Amino acid sequence: MNNFTFYNPVKILFGKGQISAIAQEIPAGSRVMMTYGGGSIKKNGVYEQVMEALKGFEVLEFSGIEPNPHYETLMQAVDIAKRQNIDFFLAVGGGSVIDGTKFIVAAMEYEGEEPWDILAKHERITKAAPFGAVLTLPATGSEMNSGAVINRVATKEKFSFGSPVTFPKFSVLDPETTFTLPVRQISNGVVDAFSHVLEQYLTYPVNAPLQDRMAEAVLLTLKEEGPKAVKNPDDYDTMANFMWAATMALNGVIRVGVPTDWATHYIGHELTALHGIDHARTLAIVFPSLMRYKIGAKKEKLLQYGERVWGVDSGTEDERLEATIQATIAFFESLGVKTKLSDYEVGEDTIETIVQRFEERGVKDLGERSDIQIQDVEQILKLSL
Ligand code: NAP
Ligand code: FE
Repeated sequence: MNNFTFYNPVKILFGKGQISAIAQEIPAGSRVMMTYGGGSIKKNGVYEQVMEALKGFEVLEFSGIEPNPHYETLMQAVDIAKRQNIDFFLAVGGGSVIDGTKFIVAAMEYEGEEPWDILAKHERITKAAPFGAVLTLPATGSEMNSGAVINRVATKEKFSFGSPVTFPKFSVLDPETTFTLPVRQISNGVVDAFSHVLEQYLTYPVNAPLQDRMAEAVLLTLKEEGPKAVKNPDDYDTMANFMWAATMALNGVIRVGVPTDWATHYIGHELTALHGIDHARTLAIVFPSLMRYKIGAKKEKLLQYGERVWGVDSGTEDERLEATIQATIAFFESLGVKTKLSDYEVGEDTIETIVQRFEERGVKDLGERSDIQIQDVEQILKLSL
């Protein structure tokens, strides 16, 4: 097992009715900016519950944060929040609203000239305004981590950032808030969370059996609960287990002591930035090809994953590796998530564009062994055509 430091200060308020508890978590007298998206919270009663819980606080609403949150929109929120002396933020929604709010709180305290540099130049963030979250979509883990991914529409760029000061102070996970999710968002959530675990598990062994088994527990839970969630999105226990599994997939617990990959996410962000493909769907396109391309380097963990998660325990080594990749593809497809670029009408010209962008940006050394170079990205994407 590798050395590690673990820090996660997020207080989780889990279960039905927990939205009412947020008032105790926000400092008395705060001027609160409540951030949300396109209005799903107004259709499912979450908005009313939050407003009820915030009685006694001065609350300013900022709505309209898009899926794959737009830098341009978030900067408007920063401008308003500064003028209105906002001192606490409450993100209510999915990963996009929570990520967007992380950027807002970082930009609020940013002293440089161009807040986009937080993303483009990885400017170090040492201060951020405090915020909490009410999660309505299990998927990203953003509710219990410090990372965020932001889209700049003008340049079609999607970059991430993170800092120890951008953890939420608290997050409410009430499974009842997810009952109104469309099937597409549930299946996206399962695939995103599943991929988060694979990015931290499907690397090479470092003699960390507890880390492996915790990762496999999350994978198995998503494998079992995911299809049930798609069929019965208003089953409390199903959504509760799915919700907690998605949080555990990316809150840092399974990441410690082991190598991590993240090449699939890095490449996937380009597909969202260029074509607007849902984040999870980009992962379903890239991950199977990356497994195949890196079959040698990932062999031991692929075989373990195949056996322990998919029950692949017979045949030659090559047959088992192939069966494991096929089982992963079949799982994504069974959830209604397509796994080929052609399914999204994306062709070779996009691969060329991505290669060109990576050359311009000097992208290199992706993956757990830092051995995925631009020409490898090209080959991986070609396998996804
Ligand atoms: P999302 O973009 O936050 O939301 C997708 C859609 O679901 C929105 O249209 C939203 O509508 C709707 N929705 C949310 N909750 C709903 C509910 N309870 N009922 C009905 N509709 C609901 O989706 P996401 O998958 O959670 O987030 C994706 C973003 O997170 C991407 O930008 C991705 O890159 C990023 N991400 C972040 C991390 C991280 O660690 N921070 C990890 C992976 C991915 P409204 O807008 O109307 O609410
Ligand atoms: Fe993700």
